[in-house]
Amino acid sequence: MSTAPLLSIVMPIYNEQEALPLTVERLRPILDGLDVTYEVVGVDDGSTDVTPVLMQKIRQDWPEFRIVRFSRNSGHQAALTAGIHRAHGDYVVSIDADLQDPPEKIPEMLALAREQSLDIVYGVRGDRGTDTFFKRRTAGAYYWLMRKLVGKQMPNQAGDYRLLSRAAVDALKAMPEHQPVYRLLVPWLGFPSGEVVYVREERVAGSTHYPLSKMVRLALDSVTNFSASPLRLATWLGLFSFLVCILLALYTTVSYALGSTVPGWSSLFIGMLFIGAVQLVCVGLLGEYVGRIYSAVQARPAYFIGYDSAEDQDRYGTDE
Ligand code: UDP
Ligand code: MG
Repeated sequence: MSTAPLLSIVMPIYNEQEALPLTVERLRPILDGLDVTYEVVGVDDGSTDVTPVLMQKIRQDWPEFRIVRFSRNSGHQAALTAGIHRAHGDYVVSIDADLQDPPEKIPEMLALAREQSLDIVYGVRGDRGTDTFFKRRTAGAYYWLMRKLVGKQMPNQAGDYRLLSRAAVDALKAMPEHQPVYRLLVPWLGFPSGEVVYVREERVAGSTHYPLSKMVRLALDSVTNFSASPLRLATWLGLFSFLVCILLALYTTVSYALGSTVPGWSSLFIGMLFIGAVQLVCVGLLGEYVGRIYSAVQARPAYFIGYDSAEDQDRYGTDE
């Protein structure tokens, strides 16, 4: 691309063969109607269905649609990182490929950012009525915890549908983190920000790629990326168990003085179990951090680019 477009849309795409055509159908008229230069960076996160072929087809009659392909599935956040890092626009909007984030809000986000010179415009979910009860509950707990960790500048219920200015993108690119959790890192920047409220729609087709295991992982990444307080929790647990030990020691001494030492096995047993449990919890917590230090020291990139249509080279072949 010779000149940078004004707007870049970053869209992580993983096995979205049903949803993608519908998304493109709804997204394109909106972007064309904006009357600004734009590009859509579709990041194919190692899809194993016909999504890659569909993306090539889409690109054929939509030159603004750019394809970045991973060599393998690396996860939603990695796809976001690749898209944000490779976007050329002065404004970068990240959006899901399943129409859960209504693309009609993009013009509103852009207008707000330009009018008020904002660096960040969050898409805030006004209503999660279409999400399952379980998803709403887990999401509620997640945002509650994250606001405690990052602070009140983190908007409640703001996911990965947001607009970033070039300044915010450059700041994020300068971060040494390999696997940032953007919904925490972006508010942490503290740049001037605004909000656009939207209704989280139902996934247009296909099914979610966020099973419980990935949700737990995102939550663990979020906590350990931003806070060492779980380590402090280990200290508190240690102190608490120490206190219990003192009480037990007192109890044992008194029992001994009263001459009834033999029936003390239950307290011993409970004490042993308790301390064993506390130690295991602490070791587990340390493991979380040590594991992350390990991967940071290894400094492996979070993703590998297989293909970027903007660079017009294809290491993995597109016509197989
Ligand atoms: N996604 C991805 N890699 C993955 C899982 C998901 O790029 O490993 C994409 C997916 O195609 C979608 C977005 O991330 O555009 C959000 O995923 P999904 O809709 O499955 O999650 P949910 O909305 O249910 O939380
Ligand atoms: Mg979704």
